Amino acid sequence: MTEVKSATGESLEHGRPIVFRHGLVMTMDRSHRLINDGDVLVVDGEITAIGPNLAAPESALEIDASGGIVMPGMIDTHRHMWQTAMRGYGADWTLSQYFVWYYLQHGRSFRPQDIYAGNLLSALEAVDAGVTTSVDWSHGLQTIEHADAAVDALEGVNGRFVLAYGNIQRGPWEWSTEPGFVDFFQRRFDGAGGRLGFQIAFDVTGDPSFPEKAAFEVARELGVSVTTHAGVRGATGDDSIRLMHEHGCMGPHTIFVHASTLSDDSYQRIAASGGYASVSTESEQSAGQGYPSSWKLRQFDIPISLSHDTSVWWSADLFTAMRTTIGADRARQHLEAHLKDETVTNLDLRCEEVVHWATRGGAAALGLDNKIGSLEVGKRADIVLLKNDYSPVMFPIVNPYGHVVMQAQRNEVHTVLVDGDVVKYEGRLVGVDLARARQVTDETVTYLADTLGAEAWGDGMHPEVPERQKRENPYQYTK
Ligand SMILES: [Zn+2]
Repeated sequence: MTEVKSATGESLEHGRPIVFRHGLVMTMDRSHRLINDGDVLVVDGEITAIGPNLAAPESALEIDASGGIVMPGMIDTHRHMWQTAMRGYGADWTLSQYFVWYYLQHGRSFRPQDIYAGNLLSALEAVDAGVTTSVDWSHGLQTIEHADAAVDALEGVNGRFVLAYGNIQRGPWEWSTEPGFVDFFQRRFDGAGGRLGFQIAFDVTGDPSFPEKAAFEVARELGVSVTTHAGVRGATGDDSIRLMHEHGCMGPHTIFVHASTLSDDSYQRIAASGGYASVSTESEQSAGQGYPSSWKLRQFDIPISLSHDTSVWWSADLFTAMRTTIGADRARQHLEAHLKDETVTNLDLRCEEVVHWATRGGAAALGLDNKIGSLEVGKRADIVLLKNDYSPVMFPIVNPYGHVVMQAQRNEVHTVLVDGDVVKYEGRLVGVDLARARQVTDETVTYLADTLGAEAWGDGMHPEVPERQKRENPYQYTK
């Protein structure tokens, strides 16, 4: 590897020991220990010591974390990375408009290089925002060439990724049972370990013949998890959950994305099977899957992880995910109380729990809890330093969890480590060719705009606005 240097000339080469000094260390270990003025030492990609005034090898890169928070890398369990090349295009969509655009009209137009472009940009954006692990819910893989392009992009960025293989253009019982699918898995993932994981991604429609069973069986044979959009109003509901449960297709690492419009019976089935939820509050709030589900999931003790879903609408940082999720959860607590003419005197959900969902919750959902998700000796060094000496937002830090959830933003992500490698330092991505990401993304946008034509391009972005109903007002007021 060529030597990578920071803007100030500091060597950031792979394998160099690193020590964070004098930070507020938010360990997210089992007791959620906070250490003021603490150090974190990283050797060979592993966290080897945490505490005050640590001895470090002479060769170590010393990072001044004073005034900052050292926390575990954040984990996103559901993002459609291929859609990032269309960043913001669907900002005013509903879920049905999204389905029409991608599933019915234009999803087929995406070539392997377009999947590559979206994935590359999304991967860079993730690590830049301190999201060190992302599940690439990649349901635009129409061919194996598309899938190879997706993995090529993920392998080109210094982050931790899980390819959740999917294809919305055909049934999962079709594509997952073809020899090319297993060949692809064996060629790119089997025994690979390291920073790249694999899941199978598809939705269960509720068809009583349960054709998806074949895809669950493939997942079981390969020893990989299934991730599925569940509890999505108008698309997947209680029948989907019941079929999975009755056919024995739920497992401890099945991830139920959204899980919003479901009956108590479905939540009980998920809880009993040991399933995990991925809550995408920004998505559920504006697309219409149902009310963001954390308030309900908590009642049934279903473990929660967070996700952002897609950049075709929303932001891809977990600060926003944490903030919108706690807001929606608390709004529901107030609303439920107000419906009974009661007032909430103490909030139920605390910032500390939401930071857990963004870090350790994601690690648990992915079966990586023994490796990442917290700052503990022996774990891999996926670490984020929130620090910005030029920002009035970073002082005072009197409530660390409250600070991370309610105050911090991408601008505060100073340094990011993945597996002990420095991927962002002093606020800038390291060893990254952003110009190339811009170029391939521009090519995709130009190609899609040309393919659609100006009218369809504009209509797709600006759906019709319904007529606004104005209420009669009996009052007049004149001074
Ligand atoms: Zn999704």
